[in-house]
Amino acid sequence: MASGILHIDLDAITANWRALDAMTPAGVQTAAMVKADGYGLGAAPVARALMAAGARRFFVALTEEGVALRLALGPEAEIHVLSGHMQGDGGRIASFGLIPILNSPAQVERHFTELHGHPFGLQLETGMNRLGIDAADWRRLAPAVLARGPGLLMSHMACADDPAHPLNAEQLARFCAMTDGTGVARSFSATGGILLGRQYDFDLTRPGIGLYGGAPFRAAQPVARLSLPVVQVRALAPGDAVGYNATWTAPGPARIATLAAGYADGLFRALSNRARLFHGRTGCPLVGRVSMDLITVDISALADTPETLDLLCPAQGIDDLAAAAGTIGYEILTALGLRYDRHYVASAPGVRAA
Ligand SMILES: *Cc1c(COP(=O)(O)O)cnc(C)c1O
Repeated sequence: MASGILHIDLDAITANWRALDAMTPAGVQTAAMVKADGYGLGAAPVARALMAAGARRFFVALTEEGVALRLALGPEAEIHVLSGHMQGDGGRIASFGLIPILNSPAQVERHFTELHGHPFGLQLETGMNRLGIDAADWRRLAPAVLARGPGLLMSHMACADDPAHPLNAEQLARFCAMTDGTGVARSFSATGGILLGRQYDFDLTRPGIGLYGGAPFRAAQPVARLSLPVVQVRALAPGDAVGYNATWTAPGPARIATLAAGYADGLFRALSNRARLFHGRTGCPLVGRVSMDLITVDISALADTPETLDLLCPAQGIDDLAAAAGTIGYEILTALGLRYDRHYVASAPGVRAA
């Protein structure tokens, strides 16, 4: 087996979903964000496990993702599409029973023209200036739109992972001003908003990263373990250099293991000379440049030569690796390459792994 093995703990994902669900009162529903193939971990197996745990509402970014999810989950799931009703998507939105979250007056018009009577939600712009209908457009459109019975009014927080940021309260005030008294179900919080406090709950939360074990949900159970096979080991003399551009030189006699994964597999080149690979609790430094398919690791501290070393494990989670690469856990997960052998771990009955 030459490729790395990505172990994905579906029980940890469902436990994280339950824990986030338990933070809000019983009347608040908890959806699951499975965009970008379930943050790189497999939207179908992740969503099936969450269905078995009681989740019914799912969000994806694209209509194409919604179609794939419908095929994986069957008719019972409510699948929302965050990019809304894009040109040319009407047929698939209708045939696969997807719920577009309309983001602009143009999308509202397209939806009402093409799919009269088909369920929809709306995203309202409250301060992030990314997706959503502006306050001025909403004032104009609201009477006609509300008369068509939207299923959901939502907005998204820009700074929920920073509790002290003033934009949190400003966005909340704008969202309330735009939606109070409409009688329509509302959604405002992702993972960060759930952790911020109950004033952000409304009717439905939309956690993503917290399900997958990432910050800001620091109490989350880790979900991903990445084990990389050792292809070759060699003994270096003091002064021998390792890898492209010879950026690391052995300070003394060293044992260097070459592992089969590189930047083509999502191990960012920025991790060169920065990350560690673990054998149990012992961390071994990644030395030299990350190359396309390979990394090199100083295993001088190990008594033996293991068959694999772990890049993601309890000792080094996605946020630790993200810090070493100068990024966030979201990017570590969604960059995980397609060459890994994905092994799903699940004990819950009724959850099929693939
Ligand atoms: C990605 C996303 C979420 C989930 O955010 P997390 O920080 O991963 O919990 C929720 N809502 C919207 C609109 C998103 O784009």
